[in-house]
Amino acid sequence: MGNTRGFGGRGRRTLVSALGDRNNRREGLEGVVRVVELHQIQSIVRPTTPSEAWSLRTAQPEATRFLGGGIDLVLYTPGTVTTLIDLSGLGRQGVTADRDGVAIGAETTLSELLEASPIASYAGGILVEVLRHVASPLQRNVATVGGAAARAHPWSDVVLAMLVLDAEIEVFDGASRSVPVAEFFATQAKNVAPLITGIRLPKRPSTARGAFEKFGRTGSDVALLNCACVADAVDGGVRNVRIAVGGTPSLARRLPEAEAALEGEPLSTARAAEVASIAARVVDAREDRRASESYRRTLTEVGVRRCLARLAGEDA
Ligand SMILES: Cc1cc2nc3c(=O)[nH]c(=O)nc-3n(C[C@H](O)[C@H](O)[C@H](O)COP(=O)(O)OP(=O)(O)OC[C@H]3O[C@@H](n4cnc5c(N)ncnc54)[C@H](O)[C@@H]3O)c2cc1C
Repeated sequence: MGNTRGFGGRGRRTLVSALGDRNNRREGLEGVVRVVELHQIQSIVRPTTPSEAWSLRTAQPEATRFLGGGIDLVLYTPGTVTTLIDLSGLGRQGVTADRDGVAIGAETTLSELLEASPIASYAGGILVEVLRHVASPLQRNVATVGGAAARAHPWSDVVLAMLVLDAEIEVFDGASRSVPVAEFFATQAKNVAPLITGIRLPKRPSTARGAFEKFGRTGSDVALLNCACVADAVDGGVRNVRIAVGGTPSLARRLPEAEAALEGEPLSTARAAEVASIAARVVDAREDRRASESYRRTLTEVGVRRCLARLAGEDA
């Protein structure tokens, strides 16, 4: 077991936080806040293996939380939590390309991922385009990929990118396993959400292209709505089409009806407009305090059309 540090006595910090469920994953609770005092944190433990981290987490589910970069934990930690499990000792940092694709350690920061050479040209560089729009450079220097996947904010740009890139989430919950991204976000953990140890991106042809659109009130705002499209250009048409929309205000989801309308077809401005209107019709858009349903359908149409136009190499 790594070193243990006391946390109390560092002065009180009072933060406004959202009520969260056991695993801090919440949807539709935006705006419901209560005051939490960080001084309840008494220790930080630093395991060196996933099974050590998992035993610490499951031994006291109410009193412990995994700590990645901590940028979310400082905002959304239930008052029952007294111990943080620092994951930086697990050695799961870094991005490597191999013959099956790209492996990303869960403790890799968003900045490290943004600057990693295997990502620069992957699917036309879409992950670079997405990460440049996530929070601010200072937050990206600290926030981890594992934390972004575990937190899964409904407006997450990182989750959206993982969906259109057919990522696999590598987890440990007593045993290591790999979960397809859509299944990972569709299933809510019964008790304790698994430890995320890594993300895998499958090998893609060099003709793969991707595009991303994010709508927000300001350049650094979280998405009112975001969307992304990825496809492989093959013999004058496109294949393996992925179209996903997030912040609807639900967590990002793929739109199979829109994908099917484009699969195997040549991509043109006219086709892009047609598929975009299908996307606007089938997206699970709803109203919340940030935007109306009809506005989100309009944003979906504009966003998907722009993304597909860029895939077609035309001005959006
Ligand atoms: C001000 C602000 C602005 C933001 N803007 C954007 C944005 O524009 N776009 C966007 O996509 N996202 C945005 N985010 C979300 C941000 O990407 C995530 O909050 C961040 O990536 C969380 O990473 P972290 O390492 O700091 O997680 P922590 O704060 O360390 O942890 C977050 C949660 O995940 C759990 N956790 C952490 N690591 C793991 C792991 N390896 N396995 C299992 N559970 C784990 C923790 O226990 C905790 O419940 C923003 C967040 C903030 C605070």
